[in-house]
Amino acid sequence: MLLKGMLKISTRAVSAARKAFDEGPWPKMTAYERSRILLRFADLVEKHSDELAALETWNNGKTYEQAAKTELPMFVRLFHYYAGWADKIHGLTVPADGDYHVQTLHEPIGVAGQIIPWNFPLVMFAWKVGPALACGNTIVLKTAEQTPLTALFVAKLFHEAGLPDGVLNVVSGYGPTAGAALASHMDVDKLAFTGSTDTGKVVLELAARSNLKPVTLELGGKSPFIICEDADVDKAVELAHFALFFNQGQCCCAGSRTFVHERVYDEFLEKSKKRALRRVVGDPFKKGVEQGPQIDVEQFEKVLRYIRSGIESHATLECGGDRLGSKGFFVQPTVFSNVQDDMLIAQDEIFGPVQSILKFKDIDEVIRRANKTRYGLAAGVFTKNVSTANTLMRALRAGTVWINCFDVFDAAIPFGGYKMSGIGREKGIYSLHNYLQVKAVVSPVKNPAW
Ligand code: NAD
Repeated sequence: MLLKGMLKISTRAVSAARKAFDEGPWPKMTAYERSRILLRFADLVEKHSDELAALETWNNGKTYEQAAKTELPMFVRLFHYYAGWADKIHGLTVPADGDYHVQTLHEPIGVAGQIIPWNFPLVMFAWKVGPALACGNTIVLKTAEQTPLTALFVAKLFHEAGLPDGVLNVVSGYGPTAGAALASHMDVDKLAFTGSTDTGKVVLELAARSNLKPVTLELGGKSPFIICEDADVDKAVELAHFALFFNQGQCCCAGSRTFVHERVYDEFLEKSKKRALRRVVGDPFKKGVEQGPQIDVEQFEKVLRYIRSGIESHATLECGGDRLGSKGFFVQPTVFSNVQDDMLIAQDEIFGPVQSILKFKDIDEVIRRANKTRYGLAAGVFTKNVSTANTLMRALRAGTVWINCFDVFDAAIPFGGYKMSGIGREKGIYSLHNYLQVKAVVSPVKNPAW
């Protein structure tokens, strides 16, 4: 019954998006008009940002402060950015051999199917919807089953901003039903997915088996954060702590393998433990709270299982290691030292507040070990030495390398993964290519006399 209902909703949403694409007015509007709707939408979001931040905290459990101060401004900035692109998308004239005039037209792909996860519901919405609309596509977006609220609210604001009917369709539903229906739908022209690597493989297969729609994938990670011997330890501790614990540790690019040079290892460890013990966990609406609950019971139990696995494989538990209190899905900020590369906690994405600290001796060794993972989403480097930074920046096989910073997410910076962390890039100019077809138009310079 539920399955049938969800399939029906996905199908109706796709039909609405198809009609809005084929009959317009959206893809046929002037680019400037589209840009103005995106700007009006961003203004409305700004006007409602307090409500939206509260709703995002209910949605996900992240702190209100983070939602209000980081994610809402980022959301608005992303739509300003894509509104700016809408009327700057154009093709080329091509210097082909022969007496031909050759040009390329950059056209919207059509109906975009978009599937997003629960960890950053609003930000993921913006990464997907912004470029698709700027390029003139219509959309069916499926939110994660845990976090339907804010996407529905902003969809209503889009309506108020003047987005024509059928252009953006938000579906709340489960993955194997509503998500799979979208991935395998014959009338969806492009699929953009963010989520786990395992599900990424499933949707890629569904897309291939149906109409061979192009797919972009933003998947998991096990990102190294490398603290070199010349690092200012206090600053490195704070940044590595942020790199891992931000958003309850539920970040695809979390710095979840903290590699520390042996010369600063002991001091780093002592201070990291103290920092984790100071982390304030509790009601995400309360001022000063740094960490709320994990998203749901499934993730909460998964994180605790990984903690047990760390203990069983003889990593040293420095602090934390259990749930916090007896109510809700709160996990104690946990630090493991003496972590070895082959331990599960050093290989799998834990997606929780669990820091794994590994010791290294020299740069060649840490490059080899940092790259020895199936993932390649991001990496961090902390050093004062420009040569070391340059060497690592080139050698690390990851879609983003942050040097002396972490989690910098400007709208213009492309984001995406090497290896099993994904296919394609979102944000920045690269994201537009995901939502455009290139048409080559060729005509003789001198028309032959027929
Ligand atoms: P998930 O793969 O379980 O779910 C992601 C989305 O896919 C949800 O909307 C879900 O309903 C849907 N889904 C699940 N099964 C499906 C199926 N069979 N067919 C179609 N859709 C299906 O992942 P999650 O647990 O919600 O999110 C956490 C994962 O997302 C982590 O691995 C994380 O690293 C990754 N992530 C990656 C990025 C990135 O940009 N690379 C960003 C955020 C999260």
